[in-house]
Amino acid sequence: MIYFVGAGPGAEDLITVRGRELIEQAGMIIYAGSLVNREHLKYAPEGCEIFDSASMTLEQVIEAMEDGNRRGLDIVRLHTGDSSIYGAVREQMDMLDELSIEYEVVPGVSSFCGAAASLKAEYTLPGVSQTVIITRMAGRTPVPGKEDIALLAEHRATMVIFLSAGLLRPLTEKLIEGGYSKESPAAIVYKATWPDEKVLRCTVGTLAETAEKNGISKTALIIVGDFLGDKYQRSKLYHPAFSHEFRP
Ligand code: SAH
Repeated sequence: MIYFVGAGPGAEDLITVRGRELIEQAGMIIYAGSLVNREHLKYAPEGCEIFDSASMTLEQVIEAMEDGNRRGLDIVRLHTGDSSIYGAVREQMDMLDELSIEYEVVPGVSSFCGAAASLKAEYTLPGVSQTVIITRMAGRTPVPGKEDIALLAEHRATMVIFLSAGLLRPLTEKLIEGGYSKESPAAIVYKATWPDEKVLRCTVGTLAETAEKNGISKTALIIVGDFLGDKYQRSKLYHPAFSHEFRP
């Protein structure tokens, strides 16, 4: 069996119990070495075969899985955060389907959740935003035109921007084109939940200089929205004047 396991955002104890138990029983682990904390590997049993996928192609990853599977090993494919977000996991699952190799997916704590925790923030504040947009700037992977950041910015919803820490000047231009002002609140969370995490609050207009001053050009989330400000409405759910199914 092959298990796609979300390793969580960084801290070694932010993997799920299920994920950790699978590591403890794995005969082979293929981990995304560029972002997965290597501390997870110390829970692997003796003799576990370990591959860093950073230097492998999709075909080589599948070949290793096929080989391990043939030898009856339980295989953990360890992805950073949760594999459903920029995880390049679908293509692996499709190739395993073709080979009739079974797999399961174990969710993980995505870095966007880790970043909210580090910011001690709530993305969905009543009266501010009830929507979280997860997106990225186009890089070598194109982004469909309808999802251009300037268009998404028009919603003024909470925005969490992945894979774009090296593109902060064009990102800022797009946010402003979409209607944000230079003063709109923003944050950069670098290596959320890792020991060397940095949480930097700034504004849309100061994103690039804040990153430059702190030497950040990768492994960061750019977070934008008025939820980072201090105005919001309290929740109806916990309001004394509001009754519901569990509190008449
Ligand atoms: N599947 C992952 C995302 C992989 S894409 C997840 O759910 O988090 C890689 C990008 O994720 C990085 O470029 C960065 O933008 C973001 N990222 C991953 N881990 C991070 C962390 N600990 N702190 C901040 N950003 C992180």
